[in-house]
Formats: sequence, structure tokens, C-alpha cells
Amino acid sequence: MTTERFHITRVEFVSVHVRGAHDWVFVEVTERDGYTGLAELAGPGAATEIAQLTADFAERLRLSPPSGESDIPARLGLAAAELEGDRVKATAVSALRSAIADAQARRARVSLTEFLGGQKMDAVKLYGNINRSMLPDDDGSRDRSPEAFARAAREAISLGFEAVKCAPFDEARAPFEEPGLPEAARAGIDRIAAVREAIGDDVPLFVDCHSRFDLDSGIALEVALRESNVTWYEEAVDGIKHPDVMRRIRERATMDVAGAESGYGIAMFRRIIEGGIMDVVMPDIKFCGGAGEAVEIGRVLETFAPGSVSMHSPSGPVSQLASAHVSAAFKGTRPLEHAWGEVEWRASALEPAERIESGRIYIPDGPGLGARIDQSAVEKRGRRWTL
Ligand SMILES: [Mg+2]
Repeated sequence: MTTERFHITRVEFVSVHVRGAHDWVFVEVTERDGYTGLAELAGPGAATEIAQLTADFAERLRLSPPSGESDIPARLGLAAAELEGDRVKATAVSALRSAIADAQARRARVSLTEFLGGQKMDAVKLYGNINRSMLPDDDGSRDRSPEAFARAAREAISLGFEAVKCAPFDEARAPFEEPGLPEAARAGIDRIAAVREAIGDDVPLFVDCHSRFDLDSGIALEVALRESNVTWYEEAVDGIKHPDVMRRIRERATMDVAGAESGYGIAMFRRIIEGGIMDVVMPDIKFCGGAGEAVEIGRVLETFAPGSVSMHSPSGPVSQLASAHVSAAFKGTRPLEHAWGEVEWRASALEPAERIESGRIYIPDGPGLGARIDQSAVEKRGRRWTL
């Protein structure tokens, strides 16, 4: 057993403007033999506060080199309980763990899937989240009518996605004046009905509620969603902040209850599944502790609760590809999320280009992630900097 450590020599940040207020932000970590690993940062302050903390943590790791990606929280003196409650620190730690896992895999000349203990797969199944395609672009607002939702869903299905997700409840926000199903949920329910009509009876339809409801309205809404044969009921409430409310909604629900996209660490996700709070947890490698932690979460939970893990990934192409490696490594049975239709040129942000076809993401050959940021995409739409 060697005790070779990971020596960081350079950290760089890259951003690429997507549309509206949205940029993708990436970090590249290079070690002393020149292997560079890549990861994605997200959340408010990704390019400022979170990038700065990532650089600060990297500097501490440069002075006290970790034995590998999983050693990073301990090396920084950060316990899981602290990271569970601090999204900024969790994001910085997750990015460093994912980037260093990529660099370690490149150095070992194996794919990230294999580095994380799995067996290489050509492709991973996706579901199409139409949400990003319907957010405001650089020219302003978008059509949010039921017809527009139906069009987007129909197009996603025609491209080969076997399931679609939408987030239709723009008008609703708890608390509500009336008991039961709030009037403010009506427009969202109409959008869902239009999507169901457009995609036919049998395509799995996922609905994300972005924590806009509460116990009473969340229970009433689930009943209303049965009308449109919704199969996945995501985040009626924030199930991390309000686990008891989420559990009570789940107890009444006939469809899968999903959530916990901002969770950190295997202990938290295990508590959620063992506690009967949700049917499906959605770790995001950008916050959950990184690619290595996500594989651990997937392996452990899928062993005692098959189908309980689906990676959250309304993300840019780097996090998408890393999440595909993660899903392959823990052999997830649920499809992986894909933010379909956000921008036309998305595939070209990576070299080799991102390949999403027939509802699958193809994992490129080559060590680590198998892809890098395309330099001309940065020149055209972004910038590169150090801190
Ligand atoms: Mg969500």
C-alpha cells in the first residue's frame, strides 16, 4: 500500500454563460504530474463566494495533501454534521472531491466509473426535465402556457426520453388562505394535464413542486395529481427542513415521493430512506459530497431499498457526465436527470462533444470523465480566472 498523496499545484475557474441569469461555473484542479481534474460549481455565488472558498480549501489541501478524494473532508477538519448544515462549504468540498477523483482516475488511466469501483458502461438512461427550456432566456420571459408545456414535453419524448419532468407551479406559494387544494395550484395542474395529454397515457410523468406547498395543500395536491397519472411527486415541501411533513405526505401518497436534492453525505440520505420520509432521494454531486460520496450513497441505499436513488442533475455538461459515471458505478435503476433544451450549443461546451441521443447519455472513452471543457466555448461565451 503506497501512501502517495495528491499534490495540488494549480486551481483555475472557468465560466460559460448559458442564458438569462445562468452561467455554468467549473473548477480545474491540477496535480504535480500535470493531471487535471474537472468539476462543476453551482448555486448563488458559484463564481464568487463558492469559488473563493473552493480556492481557499484547495490552498489548505496544497499545504496538507490528502491521500485521495475521500480524505478531503477529514483533511479540512470538516465533519459531516457541519457540512449538512452549510451549503457553501458542502459545494466547495463536493467540487474538490469530484475534480480530484477525475484527476486521480486520469492518472490511473481508468474511466471515472472504474475509478469509483464500477464497470464501464457505454451509456446511461436519462429522463428529460423540460424546466430549463422554459425559463427566461437572454431576451426575457418565456411562454408558460399549458400549450407550451405540452409542446416541450412532446418534443422531449420525440427525441427518445422515456420519462419527462416539469415544474409547473409558478403561482403557488404556501401558506395558503384556504384549506385543501389551493386555487393557486390550479394553473400548474392545468399545465400537467396538458403535458399528460401530449405524451399519452403511459409515459412516466414526474412533477417537481420546488417546495411551494405545506402539509395540508401537499396532501390535497397529491390526490389531484393522480388524475394525470403522475408517477413521481418531488419536493411538495423541503423534506430536509421538514422531514415530518414530508413523511406524512408520503404516508398518504400513491405515487413515489422524491426529493432531498440539496442534501449532504451518506448519513443524511440514509436517515431519509430508513426513516420512511421519501421513496426516492436525489443526491446531487455538486452538493452531496461529490462523485465518490454519491457512489457510496447509491451503493448502500440501493442494497436495502432498490430504486431509492436517482441523481439530481439539472446541470451543465460536466456535472451531467460525472453523474453518468456515478450512476454507472452504483448501477442505478432509475434514470438520470437531464436539463433538456436549455441551449442549442450545449453539446459543444465539451471536447469531445456531449452525446445525448435516444434518451441516453453516452460516456466517452478515455480516462477520468473522458471529456474536457472546450476552449473555444470559453473564448466565445465565458472566461477563465484564478484566485
Ligand atoms: Mg427538484
